Order: sequence, then C-alpha cells, then structure tokens
Amino acid sequence: MTQLDDLPIRDDLRGLSPYGAPQQPVRVAINVNENPYHVPEVVAHRIVEAIARELPGLNRYPDREFTALREKLASYLGHDLTPDQLWAANGSNEIMQQLLQVFAGPGRRVLSFSPSYSMYPLLTRGVGSEFVTASRDDRFAVTPELAREAIEREQPDVTILCTPNNPTGTGMSLETIEAAYAATTGVLIVDEAYAEFRHDGEPSALELLPGRERLVVSRTMSKAFAFAGVRVGYFAAAPVVADAVRLVRLPYHLSALTQAAAGAALDCADVMLGQVEAIRVQRDRIVEEVTALGYAPYPSEANFVLIGGVDDPRAIFEGMLERDILIRDVGLPGTVRVSAGTEEETSAFLAALAELSRPATA
Ligand SMILES: *Cc1c(COP(=O)(O)O)cnc(C)c1O
Repeated sequence: MTQLDDLPIRDDLRGLSPYGAPQQPVRVAINVNENPYHVPEVVAHRIVEAIARELPGLNRYPDREFTALREKLASYLGHDLTPDQLWAANGSNEIMQQLLQVFAGPGRRVLSFSPSYSMYPLLTRGVGSEFVTASRDDRFAVTPELAREAIEREQPDVTILCTPNNPTGTGMSLETIEAAYAATTGVLIVDEAYAEFRHDGEPSALELLPGRERLVVSRTMSKAFAFAGVRVGYFAAAPVVADAVRLVRLPYHLSALTQAAAGAALDCADVMLGQVEAIRVQRDRIVEEVTALGYAPYPSEANFVLIGGVDDPRAIFEGMLERDILIRDVGLPGTVRVSAGTEEETSAFLAALAELSRPATA
C-alpha cells in the first residue's frame, strides 16, 4: 500500500495532519459551532424558487462578479458599505485562503494570537508561508499592547485577529484592532465569523474600515445564518482588496446555485437570523449553569462556550459520547468547548455534565 509519505508531495507538507473534526451521527452534535436550527421552511421555499430560476441557464458559467449577491451583502452589513467593497467565496475558509494567496505566499509570514482557529495554520502552510503565534493574556484577551508588541516583533505580512475568538469566545476591543492596524504595514484580517452572536453593544471592526485600505473584515453565513452546508463566506474591505483577490481566485468560483441560494437567504435575513437570540440565551445559560457545577467557563461573545476547570477533558468527551452527545476537546489543557444548541440539546448536555461531575460514590 502506498503511504502518503511515498508520494512526491511538497516537503513543507510532510507530516502535517488535515482538518478533521469528527463527523458522527449523534443525538446532540454540539462540536463544530453549527446553528442547531434548520433553515426555516418559508426561506427554503424561496431558495428552491431562486434555484429553479437558475436551472435552465446552468449551461452557461455563472456571473463571475456575483453582482446581485454583493449588493445584498452590502445592504445586509450596512455601515454605508457599497457592493464594490464586498467579496464572497465558498465559505470564509476560502475567503481566508484567497487573502493568504495574494497577501502571504512563499517567504512571507502570518501572525495570529493563540489559541485561535485551527484552520489558520493549515491555510497558511497551504500557501507556503510561515505561521507564527503570539500569546493572549490569562483571560485569552488581546490588549492593544500585546497586539502592538507581537506585530513589532514578528513583522508579519498578514495578521489574523479572530473576534469573537474561536475556541475561547473572547471578544476584542476596537482599540486593539486599531493598534494592530497602526503597527503593521501588512494586511490585517479580522475574522468575525461569530459577529451576530455578540452581546448587544459590542462593536464590529466594520466601523474601522473607512480610511484603512489594508483592513479586511471577514464574515460567514455558516453560523448565525444556519447555512453551513451551502458554503458562503464574504469579506468587506476597500474595493482595491477585491481587485487583489481577483488575481488569485478561480474563475467563476461561486456557482450559480450558491449565488441564488445565498441571495434568497439574504432576502429573508430577518427570518434566517430568527434563532440567534434563542442561541445567545442558551450560550449564556451554559456559562451560568456550568459555573454552578463548579467549572470555570470563559465569557463568550460567540455561539459556544469554552469551559475551564475540567480535570479530565478526555473523560468528559468520552462520557458525553456514551450519552450520544458530541462535544469538542480543542486540545487546551483543562477545557472542553461546547456549542449552544437548542434548549433541549443544551439541557441534555447540562444534565450529562452534572452526572459526569458527580463525585464517584462507593
Ligand atoms: C466556523 C468558522 C468559520 C467559518 O468557516 P466557513 O468556511 O465560512 O464555514 C470561520 N472562522 C472561524 C474562526 C470559524 O470558527
């Protein structure tokens, strides 16, 4: 049998592991921060109609510039953004890949603040760049000083700030983002995949876009929009940043079906986002109830909670799996991460955790 190592793959890819969050059929899947609610039926009908309109024309390539979708994304985001400031791709992972292809690449360096999203190092290595990390404070926050020092030390070509941060749920102040931008001559990507779940009053980096042409704010329809299966991510930036990624994107990268589905979903944004509040309630409930069980959850602005104070994360993971509940061991000592599910799913998780936390009786 041929092994991976027997193939003439790039030397810098040898020994790496692919992204591999388990995909198992379980009763309660709260391991990859998906939205637990189905696409609402009214929206599903609108999507079917929009896709039906596209079907006869599928012999032709789609609109390479996905003009209608960019208009809808601009009006969804507000902040006086214009369609030429928007760009979309097959998930924000592809957004990130396109940005790294054009602003990083061989011989260049990408900085992020760990712990953060596990795809950043994989995407970085995929484009042949060096991935470097800087640390957060003891509550996983990045202060303006930490950001400035790290950027001055590492001189990155691309800096990625994730806020709210995966896997910790931590938000980031606009002061930190401004400080990072001011400290770098490279591109600053702010990954706001979980933006819609922030507590009220928490700002978005979209506010900082005017006058900052090296700032890119990335978003996704995978989480709040309950659209992970469709693969739609997007960014907002100066129009010239969209020109830059046009240099590397594959022609016609967004299929006509994707464009139609995303457009129809955005036309129903209010309905699509209808469960965000319910998810935020479950998120805050997890923080409260696991605290009562004696754990130390980190404050979360996202749709998941990183729970600290876990003596044996592996045992909790296995104990949950025995109860048909899939959570995430993100490899941070003393923690597990759980996504906020429906009220029922969250109750199942909390009941299981209470059981697993009870001191063993003789
Ligand atoms: C889930 C997630 C995304 C979304 O990725 P898609 O490719 O849009 O599904 C992006 N960034 C972070 C930090 C995430 O956790």
